Amino acid sequence: MAGRPSSAPSAIPQLKDFVFTEKLGSGTYATVYKAYRKTGVREVVAVKCVLKGSLNKTSTENLLTEIELLKKLKHESIVELKDFRWDDGYIYLIMEYCSGGDLSHFIRKKRALPEQIVRRFLQQIAQAMKFLWDNNVAHMDLKPQNILLTSTTNPRLKLADFGFAKNLYDGDTLYTMRGSPLYMAPEIICHGTYDARVDLWSIGVILYECLFGRAPFASKSFKELGAKIWDQKSVELPYGVDISDKARDLVLRLLKRNPDDRISFEEFFAHPFVDMCHTPNSKSLEKATALVTKACEHDKAGEYEAAVRLYFEGLEYFIPAIHYEEDSNRKNILRRKVKEYMKRAEVLKQLLKPGHLPEHRLQDIKHELTNSTNQQSQQSTVSDKLSTLMELCNDHSEFLAALRLIKAAYHEIEKEEFEQALKHYEMSLGALIKLLPGEAAGPRKDMLNIEIQKWMSEAESIKSYLSVQRLKTNDSSQEEEETHQSYMNQCIVQ
Ligand code: ADP
Ligand code: MG
Repeated sequence: MAGRPSSAPSAIPQLKDFVFTEKLGSGTYATVYKAYRKTGVREVVAVKCVLKGSLNKTSTENLLTEIELLKKLKHESIVELKDFRWDDGYIYLIMEYCSGGDLSHFIRKKRALPEQIVRRFLQQIAQAMKFLWDNNVAHMDLKPQNILLTSTTNPRLKLADFGFAKNLYDGDTLYTMRGSPLYMAPEIICHGTYDARVDLWSIGVILYECLFGRAPFASKSFKELGAKIWDQKSVELPYGVDISDKARDLVLRLLKRNPDDRISFEEFFAHPFVDMCHTPNSKSLEKATALVTKACEHDKAGEYEAAVRLYFEGLEYFIPAIHYEEDSNRKNILRRKVKEYMKRAEVLKQLLKPGHLPEHRLQDIKHELTNSTNQQSQQSTVSDKLSTLMELCNDHSEFLAALRLIKAAYHEIEKEEFEQALKHYEMSLGALIKLLPGEAAGPRKDMLNIEIQKWMSEAESIKSYLSVQRLKTNDSSQEEEETHQSYMNQCIVQ
């Protein structure tokens, strides 16, 4: 158009076999476009186009490093380089397309993010960092603009832009300026020498920004930013924002100005807020399945304690497996499975509760009762005591009626008719407790008092025994239902 200033956007680059559509973003030395592959499968990709003329010696080196590193760094939390091409004007990096945009847009749109989401994002960043760490690579330019989201719904993060990344060998120290001041570790600016630990600082800044909606050194001017970076004060968290102790601990340890005081990579990977072993990934389901399979084996063998432990360990992996699963049908199947295992684990947990193991107590009662008929012991047996009491209460028809109910319960226990026995205990005890206050003090009242205590505890044993029997046949109670519900709520993926 006539009169248009020379800063008008340059024409979209052309690349054989690809149709370029919208511009996705631009950074230090490149413009990234969304594009379709014309031939074969109509694949959507992101093409990072670098104008050759804009490259000096350093940026050429950076670009070559990026290509070289991305070619070998294949990981689910690192953006994939599919191919690279060049022509007279440009160098093209053909990458997997991340439709959710970058993390800076996401934070700007949502401001502060809920801690649960921040944690999941952090786990994905940590996974990528662990992979880089294992491969001796430092990213050196971690910031929200260089972290991409796979999708707008239930997004996963991928590290991108390895233009400043560096292959490091033990103790390598660097001297050139890399990164962006807001996310740059203070030692880069204040001392000019640094190492891979700058990535930990940047993660601290990103974490801070996700949790509180702004970077810790956010400033209105470069002067203010400079002052904040040079300041010797420890970084503090905004007042009055409610975050967990684990999150607080991690942010503060990542944002230590002195790299020697900063959390180390090993400590970072092991930090409870990161909880890397439960990061949703392609292995989560495998681990979950292996654990619940073992749990089922122990369950069948009646080894309930081991079974409960394994069910719960398995469930800890099922939640990330559900998060990881993208297909909604499979997600639902997994949710149903989790519910089943959860229910079973709760049943077993009830069985293992100390108060819910009354079988031996019940056996004691039975033992005493059955022995009472043939045992010639000096001590008075259960039935003897009851007979004595009945004689003592001969003149009191109501006491006598209540004691007959206990006698009936004893017979029922011998015949293992526990439901009926419990009913009779309860009827008898109800009557006795009402009558006892009217009874005059004396040996009869004392004896009744002692026996009532004993029958109450026997009735309790029978009650627990029966509730365990009910649990064993999987008759789930309201309480269990509620526990499942709270567990299931954790499985709901935003
Ligand atoms: P630079 O090295 O110039 O900073 P980047 O690789 O960081 O280039 O890309 C610049 C921007 O382009 C990113 O901040 C992001 O918004 C967008 N972008 C880059 N790669 C992709 C991709 N694979 N999918 C979607 N958007 C992308
Ligand atoms: Mg970038």
